[in-house]
Amino acid sequence: MQTEYDDFRSSVRRLAADKVAPHAADVDDQERFPQEAWDALCAADLPGLPYDEELGGSGADLLSQVIAVEEVAAACASSALVLLVNWAGTSTVVSQGSDELRSEVVPRVASGEAGAAWCMTEPTVGSDLSGIRTSAVRDGGDWVLNGQKRFISNAPWADWYAILARTGERDFGVLMVHRHDPGISFGPHEKKMGMRGSPTTDVALDDCRVPARRVVGDPVQGYRYINGELNGSRALIAAQALGIAQGAFDAAVAYTGQREQFGQQLSRFQMLRGMVADMAVKIESARALLYDAVRLISDDDPRARARVSMAKLLCSDNAMSVATDAVQLHGGYGFVRDYPVERMMRDVKITQIYEGTNQIQRLVIAKDVYAGQARA
Ligand SMILES: Cc1cc2nc3c(=O)[nH]c(=O)nc-3n(C[C@H](O)[C@H](O)[C@H](O)COP(=O)(O)OP(=O)(O)OC[C@H]3O[C@@H](n4cnc5c(N)ncnc54)[C@H](O)[C@@H]3O)c2cc1C
Repeated sequence: MQTEYDDFRSSVRRLAADKVAPHAADVDDQERFPQEAWDALCAADLPGLPYDEELGGSGADLLSQVIAVEEVAAACASSALVLLVNWAGTSTVVSQGSDELRSEVVPRVASGEAGAAWCMTEPTVGSDLSGIRTSAVRDGGDWVLNGQKRFISNAPWADWYAILARTGERDFGVLMVHRHDPGISFGPHEKKMGMRGSPTTDVALDDCRVPARRVVGDPVQGYRYINGELNGSRALIAAQALGIAQGAFDAAVAYTGQREQFGQQLSRFQMLRGMVADMAVKIESARALLYDAVRLISDDDPRARARVSMAKLLCSDNAMSVATDAVQLHGGYGFVRDYPVERMMRDVKITQIYEGTNQIQRLVIAKDVYAGQARA
């Protein structure tokens, strides 16, 4: 049965093939912002997917966002990252921010005129966010931030930075800093293995002063707010991994269908057919788990947290395996930049690391298993 999701997937797939994929190699090679792709995504109103109509969005559900990220990532993982980080960077404002802050930040992000970033990691703090040193101190009608955030995707391109900062000895808040606020500055571009079209820099806050209205909700509930957004953001990273796997798989199937050795197409060799079958199983099983996690998230089911950690783990581990096999199926041509699988294998690695490493996902899963909250 053809559903509205299938129609939506087809339209994003066409857009990605026509307007995103043609620039992906150059974006990677030049380590430049994927402007052509971004313009096309904006023209198709994709940046507005998760936001309500009154905020300028289209109010699409999480499954639609997942599908969009999958299809864009299959063509260019960096472009998908720009899109989904915008959503992550505004997620706490949407769910917890005041009406005033929401209308200050969201409509221009929804239209694609402004970008957003989400800033948790610091030089000495990655997996264990409880060690965050960046501070936010109330000073009259303002808050003053000091600290340094590391590996921030969409920086310095983004206009808005959702900063997780310490507001008390054991308290954290989320504050929205604009790139024109006094006291914010950006480090040099990181030179990365993959996702080279997605800008990444440090964000430094040096007596950075923002008005009190920029605090998201309660200034001591930031850690809880961020945790509340992780289910959605992890589903989107899982979708990104899955999209890369699908892109690499499609490229490998096409290549093995036309390359000949020993007088026949590679696709005729039984050993390679077995590899292709295993890759297909890895993709479809990961997709099924991800969509199941999305269903639990949408139903506000307590099993969602473990399920989405399982999906992030399986999608990214399977995607790493599929992309590696896609390179193998290309032989030497898989190792050179003329074919997209070389880029995809580099791009996919980070999906096992960010938004909670896969070791951290295992900790989350085991915790919920012992708490009796992970079972079907
Ligand atoms: C390209 C890129 C983009 C990124 N974008 C963003 C962004 O937009 N915003 C943001 O805030 N951050 C971002 N990050 C940071 C990313 O989320 C962190 O790198 C990640 O969370 C891991 O933290 P870490 O690098 O400090 O590693 P560490 O936490 O130091 O971990 C090192 C190793 O130890 C393991 N480990 C740690 N603790 C445990 C434990 N308890 N048990 C078992 N193993 C453990 C980890 O799994 C890992 O293998 C980005 C990183 C990169 C590279």
